[in-house]
Amino acid sequence: MECVFCKIINKEIPSEIIFEDDDLIIFKDANPKAKIHLLVVPKKHIATIDDLEKNDVELIGKLILVAAKTARDLNFYQKGYKLQFNVGRGGGQEVFHIHLHITSN
Ligand code: AMP
Repeated sequence: MECVFCKIINKEIPSEIIFEDDDLIIFKDANPKAKIHLLVVPKKHIATIDDLEKNDVELIGKLILVAAKTARDLNFYQKGYKLQFNVGRGGGQEVFHIHLHITSN
């Protein structure tokens, strides 16, 4: 398995983990583009948003809900934040395992 995020999920490479449960993991982006830059990553390997299927609806909804909870728990929701999926190389996607960027300054 060459996927870097699968390696993080399997603890084969280190990361700064913020939260983890059976479905997803949240860790700090290694090259932050904002004061706070986290990645919410489903444990299921799905390459891009374009590869989602109907039975992934609950999982993707959970990614967004957990992102909002993280913003409250880490106290940056008052400042506001951005949630972003990059999709495909043209959309700026470099790691082909779905991830939701959370950024806040
Ligand atoms: P994207 O361009 O949407 O595919 O975003 C990939 C993100 O993953 C970038 O912001 C990278 O800085 C980040 N990234 C890549 N490798 C790692 C890693 N080993 N640990 C944490 N973040 C990473």
